[in-house]
Amino acid sequence: MGRAQTVASGAERIDMVIVGAGFGGMYATWKFREMGLNIVSIEEGGDVGGVWYWNRYPGARCDLLSVDYSYGFSEEVQQEWTWSEQFAAQPEILAYANFVADRLTLRPHYRFNTRVDSAKWDDARQLWVVRTNDGKVLEATYCVMSTGPLSKPTDPDIPGLNRFKGLTLRAARWPHEEPDLKGKRIGVLGTGSSGMQIIQTLGRTECELFVFQRTPSFTLPMRNRKVTDRDVAELKANYASIRAACRLNPTGGARPVSTRPFFSIPADHRQELMEQAWQHGGHTFLGIFSDLMVNQAANDQVADFVRDRIHDTVIDKTLAEKLKPRGYPIFARRPCLDTGYYETYNRPNVHLVDCLEDPIVEITDKGIRTQSGEHELDVLILATGYDALTGALLAFEITGKDGLALKDKWEGGPRSLFGIMMAGFPNMFMTTGPNGPAALANIFTISENDVDFIAGLIAHMRAKGQGAVEPSRAVEDAWMDQIQVLASRSLMLKAKTWWTGSNVKGKPQGMSMFTGGFHKYREACEAAVANGYRDLSFAPAHQAEPVAG
Ligand code: NAP
Repeated sequence: MGRAQTVASGAERIDMVIVGAGFGGMYATWKFREMGLNIVSIEEGGDVGGVWYWNRYPGARCDLLSVDYSYGFSEEVQQEWTWSEQFAAQPEILAYANFVADRLTLRPHYRFNTRVDSAKWDDARQLWVVRTNDGKVLEATYCVMSTGPLSKPTDPDIPGLNRFKGLTLRAARWPHEEPDLKGKRIGVLGTGSSGMQIIQTLGRTECELFVFQRTPSFTLPMRNRKVTDRDVAELKANYASIRAACRLNPTGGARPVSTRPFFSIPADHRQELMEQAWQHGGHTFLGIFSDLMVNQAANDQVADFVRDRIHDTVIDKTLAEKLKPRGYPIFARRPCLDTGYYETYNRPNVHLVDCLEDPIVEITDKGIRTQSGEHELDVLILATGYDALTGALLAFEITGKDGLALKDKWEGGPRSLFGIMMAGFPNMFMTTGPNGPAALANIFTISENDVDFIAGLIAHMRAKGQGAVEPSRAVEDAWMDQIQVLASRSLMLKAKTWWTGSNVKGKPQGMSMFTGGFHKYREACEAAVANGYRDLSFAPAHQAEPVAG
């Protein structure tokens, strides 16, 4: 919307392009509009909601508390919106995104069903030339990439995927018209967070469900419940202090965090604490000991506790053994929260195909062939994950200063300062980028931090007459070194997971995210502001901006 000027080349000259209508992009759209910038926001989907617009699969639900998984920046929004459950389901989260878009009048800024094809920095003119798939060209002083850490789905690397003649559905691109799955023979490929939610939901319906499990995942009981009127009143009266506490918390959420190492607590009391947390549900379990991700012996004992719960729940003990995760530390892959996942396997219509014991050979026109034979299916559901953290950004051509392509800069893995800005890519910013806490902390708290940081920096540039900014290579290297040092102390590198890129063939491997906790990340961003941005390289504006609002 707004005051774009069409320049001689036919391009629209604006202040800022924002890519993405997930919660990061929506906040950026509000913030920079309020700053008076002339913005255009672009989104490939047909409406707002990001991952929640696409992921409509049966049982899709957020496993972060609704109070955390919501904006804190707008008092109107948080007072007027009421969550119905502690952990909200996809339709309610999408309704929230729509509510925010309406309440804050964000949609007029968006071009939906539009994809960015390329973004190229023009150093002489200090602007980004952004081309979209409808043939339009935008020229923008700033570019904000809110493309999300989990937005580019991946298909499994299995021969014959396109051969299947039944219905193929993807968790991450679920059709808007609900497919009829009643009475069907359904195969689910993938037992991460998406697959587990699908399995525990469809398993209870009238169908024959075949779960093709390669690596069993650890999951904790969610124990979701309705939010009471009393909860709502208490929440709404205390939002300010809750949000402030989230900003001090390593998870960026309202979660208890322990300072007690595992072995500092007597054995019987440890057991009691684990039992209590298990009964309480949610992520409480993650907050009982302080050293789970650095102490293998402590981690082993906690993993044993969870394996024992699987043993207790699954009636067929041979099946229980197959469902028990082994060979990697608990929480070194993102933990899931479930509602009766293991109980689902006690049903006669749910069948586990252990693909470690009986590997998948190919997909056929009738179903999936494993070494032991063909499993005939009517429907194949792919819940096989994402080219996470970097996939969405590398999906289009980004060219920075001196012709530097992003894919070349990131050849060995993503590099940036705070996951927000990159040496060689002036005036390009990311929110929840790959070198921040990204997927390890609350996406709302990170998005608000990142957008506020960018807004502060742009205000500074405008006040000082600066036309371009980027971090120096030295400061970017120092940040990346810090990430590596922190990761080397953690057990997180001991598992194969999208966290480290090992789920995508040929992708550089390693921990690119900041594992020091959201609170430390925020402090680092705040220190950069407090020192007057002295580690950033600025270039004076060549000319006055033509379309400033
Ligand atoms: P994921 O955790 O990466 O899981 C992908 C699954 O597909 C794994 O079980 C993987 O097995 C399997 N797979 C991939 N290729 C395969 C192949 N060729 N053969 C057999 N199995 C194959 O992906 P996701 O479940 O979509 O979750 C990704 C992230 O999204 C989550 O970690 C979470 O951060 C987020 N998410 C959150 C929620 C929520 O809030 N509740 C819900 C959904 C997703 P291997 O492990 O053996 O590779």
